[in-house]
Amino acid sequence: MTRYGIEKLLSFNKYLVDDEEKHISIKKEICAGCRTKPCIPACPAGLYVLKDGEMVIDPAGCLECGTCRVVCPCPGAIDWNYPRGGFGISYRYG
Ligand code: SF4
Repeated sequence: MTRYGIEKLLSFNKYLVDDEEKHISIKKEICAGCRTKPCIPACPAGLYVLKDGEMVIDPAGCLECGTCRVVCPCPGAIDWNYPRGGFGISYRYG
């Protein structure tokens, strides 16, 4: 059995990005008060990044695991919903 690394495994997934209604958004004024930012190391897809000191996320590539909403210590900082029907991730293996 072939064992793949995480990058290779993620490359098997397909995404249909909903450009009209992003399923994750950040309330930057709340997020700015968070000192630990656990979403950065917790997101398995590495979607949370600090850019010029401000958190940004591109929901394309989201695995819909919900980890970020669980680890976020600042209520209301992350607005998270499942993508609309037909959008989001399609797992091709597993
Ligand atoms: Fe990352 Fe999972 Fe949150 Fe999507 S739901 S942004 S993959 S932690």
